[in-house]
Amino acid sequence: KNEQRGTFSFFEPGMDARAQSRRRIEIDLRDAIQNDVLRPHYQPLIDLTTGRITGFEALVRWPDPERGMISPAEFIPVAEETGLINALGGLMLRRACTDAAAWPDDVCIAVNLSPLQFRVGNLLSLVMDALKQSGLPAKRLELEITETLLLEKSSQVLATLHALRALGVRISMDDFGTGYSSLSYLRSFPFDKIKIDQSFVRGLGSNRDAQAIVRSIISLGKGLGVTITAEGVETEAELSCLRAEGCHEGQGFLFSRARPNAEIVSLLQAQRGAALVAPVDADEEA
Ligand code: C2E
Ligand code: MG
Ligand code: MG
Ligand code: MG
Repeated sequence: KNEQRGTFSFFEPGMDARAQSRRRIEIDLRDAIQNDVLRPHYQPLIDLTTGRITGFEALVRWPDPERGMISPAEFIPVAEETGLINALGGLMLRRACTDAAAWPDDVCIAVNLSPLQFRVGNLLSLVMDALKQSGLPAKRLELEITETLLLEKSSQVLATLHALRALGVRISMDDFGTGYSSLSYLRSFPFDKIKIDQSFVRGLGSNRDAQAIVRSIISLGKGLGVTITAEGVETEAELSCLRAEGCHEGQGFLFSRARPNAEIVSLLQAQRGAALVAPVDADEEA
């Protein structure tokens, strides 16, 4: 079957280069899912007060012998167009819960969900099965959704979110501020955390507009009683600004990139010696 790759007529005449590259990704992604090649890597979430790891976000990684690591930015959109996102999302959820069940029991795991996974109708049982099979307590699982999901204003989506929370699972609003939805949905949708998109975090400390936006997201989040996490923290200046604004959690290359599961246990052990960043108190003493 593999010998025929590329020689078979997958490509219709008239397809432009972009369409061809998408088709190539679709074919290879189907193979990668079937051959169990996709893996989550885990990026730490840091409590900005204590400097300690509170949990990890699972990010899909696709190692390809010819192309190296293929970026999710390239294949998640294709997975969504072709419906492969459901298989991908299911395997990520199962694998992440299984890996996390072996971590210390105060460490959480966040898994990204595509809006399409809410349309299939079996999301609740998928989550329940992943928790049951892994033995992970529901309170250690966080599901990341985006504002586009809420744009659908569907009662089925709302019912699923409520049912997930009734299990004890937490809901995070990912990439906050990049969607087009109005603030009114914040009242009707149940969620536990806001993740400030990295485009607002970039340049904090030197960019006053970014700082004003981040400040208002934080005060909005605090008013709603939810946890606020900043994504894409890359510099000490961004970190100290986020701390000054009272942001709860941070995630970004400043702390760590996403790493394979084999490195997570040793990362957590190393933390017993010293936190990834100094706690606020140590900062003030310095
Ligand atoms: P996201 O959920 O917002 O994940 C955060 C992305 O920001 C990750 O990119 C992460 O590597 C990157 N990042 C983290 N810290 C920094 C930083 O300090 N600087 C910069 N420049 N980037 C940082 P990644 O892994 O390429 O994933 C991109 C997107 O693909 C994710 O954005 C998410 O929307 C999607 N994705 C990844 N894995 C999955 C998955 O299993 N299921 C679904 N549905 N989507 C996924
Ligand atoms: Mg995410
Ligand atoms: Mg995000
Ligand atoms: Mg993002």
